[in-house]
Amino acid sequence: MAQVTCSFCGRNKKDVDLMVSGISAHICNHCIEQAHLILGEEEKTVKPGVKPKIKLKKPKELTSYLDQYVIGQEDAKKVLTVAVYNHYKRLFQKDEKDEVKIEKSNIIMVGDTGTGKTYLAKTLAKTLEVPFCIADATVLTEAGYVGEDVESILTRLLQAADYNVEAAEKGIVYIDELDKVARKSDNPSITRDVSGEGVQQALLKLLEGTVVNVPPQGGRKHPDQKMIAVNTENILFICGGAFDGITRHIGKRLNTQPMGFSKNTGAIEADRENLLQYVTAQDLKAFGLIPELIGRLPVLTHLDPLDSSALKQILTEPKNALVKQYTKLLKMEDVDLKFEESGIDFIVEKAVEYNLGARGLRSICEAIITDAMYELPSDDSVKELVIDEAYAKSKFDKSKFKRLQVA
Ligand code: ADP
Repeated sequence: MAQVTCSFCGRNKKDVDLMVSGISAHICNHCIEQAHLILGEEEKTVKPGVKPKIKLKKPKELTSYLDQYVIGQEDAKKVLTVAVYNHYKRLFQKDEKDEVKIEKSNIIMVGDTGTGKTYLAKTLAKTLEVPFCIADATVLTEAGYVGEDVESILTRLLQAADYNVEAAEKGIVYIDELDKVARKSDNPSITRDVSGEGVQQALLKLLEGTVVNVPPQGGRKHPDQKMIAVNTENILFICGGAFDGITRHIGKRLNTQPMGFSKNTGAIEADRENLLQYVTAQDLKAFGLIPELIGRLPVLTHLDPLDSSALKQILTEPKNALVKQYTKLLKMEDVDLKFEESGIDFIVEKAVEYNLGARGLRSICEAIITDAMYELPSDDSVKELVIDEAYAKSKFDKSKFKRLQVA
């Protein structure tokens, strides 16, 4: 009897798990799997795609949308929305034969952690009709080292654009925690600084505008994948970072300023609390960003630290404010949840005390409301829950939260 072998790889039937036979050919399970992989790859490669349609949204329109979700941060909102608007306009002028070429203005946002940098970028993304992605600078390393290459950022953008390269090339990228790739000292390093300067150099090329070969599935796990060429010239980059300690640089600079601010102006003295608003490119350099990279991020803005009145607003006012979310959750159990002013003040006070910012509001609320959310679904007799200071304090004091935070 004739030996049955795979018509693709030549393996013998007895050496494989499965052999599928066609009219005059056979295929083994290995080759079926391989073929399946190739199909997957093909789907992920360039889709010539529909020309991305972009609707111009004016800065004020964008801001009023942001205002529904993000409290305060007027400066950052203004700078971001103008930059995005200009980005759109720039895309429109692309086809014209105009001598005045509008250059893109990548942005850098400086602000304490938890003040809304990512949230602003995310919320903005929702209104945008261009592909948008968020990348974290802390996982990036210089090509060839363990970690992700900077190209991985563009993989994400491609995915957001559903592999439509033309759309991705007009997209917006938010790079979080840029401060984490600052070099450790202000002096250029003699030895290679893989985690810091190397990454900055790699990012520089991306921000400047270059053609990058992007692995469509990212990473090095798929060495055989077909690369997709992406031109970053029209991609808007928004970077964010907390730059912990940068206020010291700012403070020092302001104090040593030879002219301009005399002791008597008082304006700066009054604003010691928020020195960030005076941040300049010079401070970023002193912090360890290389000048070339700073040059590629010409628009600089700051986020204000959140004081207790801002935290209170965050807790209660935005469209999806935590208070509204919990009320809705309990409404589904037919329980009327009421937050008394004193209860809200208690939550805010704890967020300030533990220095947790807006991010901490949620964990404090959880500590206070979890018991109720555990009990009430099984208890039909309770129709109302009032969270006042006494209730909030009793739950909070019992929670593990307190000990965890001290540790
Ligand atoms: P950052 O990126 O600055 O570290 P995030 O944007 O991740 O901080 O903020 C953490 C969370 O805190 C957000 O998801 C949001 O719920 C809340 N938050 C922070 N700042 C604000 C703000 N200004 N207005 C409304 N919510 C905010």
